[in-house]
Amino acid sequence: MKLRSTETFWPLKNAMLHSYPSINSDIDTDILIIGGGITGALIAYKLITEGKKVVLVDRRDICNGSTAASTALLQYEIDVALHKLIELRGLDCALDSYRNGKKAIFDLRAIIDTIKSDCQFEFKKSIYFTSLKKDIPFLKKEFDTRRQHGFDVTWLSRFNLKEMGLNAIAAIESKTAAIMDPYKLAIDLLYYCHQNGMQIFDRTNITSIQNQKEKCIAHTENKFSITANHIIHCSGYESTETLTEKVVDLKSTYVIASENLPYLPAAFKNAIFWNTSNPYLYFRATADNRIIIGGGDEDFKDANKRDKLLPKKERYLLKQFHRKFPLINFKMDYSWAGTFGETQDGLPYFGKPDPRKNEHYVLGFGGNGITFSVLGMNSILDSINSKKNQDLEYYRFGR
Ligand SMILES: Cc1cc2nc3c(=O)[nH]c(=O)nc-3n(C[C@H](O)[C@H](O)[C@H](O)COP(=O)(O)OP(=O)(O)OC[C@H]3O[C@@H](n4cnc5c(N)ncnc54)[C@H](O)[C@@H]3O)c2cc1C
Repeated sequence: MKLRSTETFWPLKNAMLHSYPSINSDIDTDILIIGGGITGALIAYKLITEGKKVVLVDRRDICNGSTAASTALLQYEIDVALHKLIELRGLDCALDSYRNGKKAIFDLRAIIDTIKSDCQFEFKKSIYFTSLKKDIPFLKKEFDTRRQHGFDVTWLSRFNLKEMGLNAIAAIESKTAAIMDPYKLAIDLLYYCHQNGMQIFDRTNITSIQNQKEKCIAHTENKFSITANHIIHCSGYESTETLTEKVVDLKSTYVIASENLPYLPAAFKNAIFWNTSNPYLYFRATADNRIIIGGGDEDFKDANKRDKLLPKKERYLLKQFHRKFPLINFKMDYSWAGTFGETQDGLPYFGKPDPRKNEHYVLGFGGNGITFSVLGMNSILDSINSKKNQDLEYYRFGR
């Protein structure tokens, strides 16, 4: 017997820490942010701390887009290996992207400390491993490249990995990585901004934008308008609805989470893991002793097709986990699927696609979406003030 449909009000209400009204009048502001996920929250934090007048809207309840699905491994290692990124984008862009990703993890920690968010941020090591002999030359080249450029990496042998309980043949260990609860951080950031003067409207869908001289006028589905000097699109994968340039290949990805373990296996106390497979698998623990596994990506974005595959992907991820960590008793408690996207060079897109309009984008696509959003936070003021900025150059549209 199906006693009710999936989501009723009471469980949601009790899980929702803060909720905001939908828009009910026309508004004027300096800056409008479209999107209340982790990106919109970080950008809002930056602008509010700079004393700007900001309004933020989201078509859903806040933080219920990709941020709610994210597994939130924070790594400076980008989906494209450093030695490959050097070939694709040149030495300066590749090294800066890796170095700034590392700095972003510490920047994020500083913000969390400032707003006193209990988002369970923890520093970890990152283990990039392979179980395939054929991937050893690739991994060795990556290790040598990172070493040569001063990254804090160690080579781990099959023996070292076996001691951790990981069935693999080699790995690069990086000293800097972290994990957190991305939903809690985004909720806390938005609440902080709201307390400091930002207006937030959820369930407020922007359906069109008009550009008039220096002003942008955003129209909502319920026929109100928000007039702003600048609009910042932090609309995640749904930004593909408004962009004319194709910047990302959208696909589907899958995650499972275990029941709480009586104690966290030693390997997961200190480290997160990902591998060289394509698509790659990744593993992390949570503060309440669960293990989360992600991967099994498929090259399509159709949501019905994606969700139908979930049972099959649960079995796949479970099997992969038991192969890699045969000594850990993983019992699945939760599973979910999400839309995900990667850019050609694994890097984000920041700035104005059309220099004549005051519409800016901060699009942290890929497995480093969150650290990319921190980088976006650091360049948004220069985008607004039309000032030169190296990241706006590296991550520009039309590159
Ligand atoms: C399964 C999964 C695992 C991931 N794992 C990691 C990871 O380990 N590490 C990592 O760094 N990143 C990871 N990512 C990526 C990361 O989660 C995303 O980069 C990040 O959450 C994007 O945040 P966002 O705020 O840009 O987008 P979202 O959270 O999607 O927020 C965008 C918001 O914009 C709103 N919106 C869109 N259009 C409109 C409109 N027209 N009007 C009003 N509102 C609008 C949406 O409702 C949405 O809430 C993962 C993603 C997925 C799906």
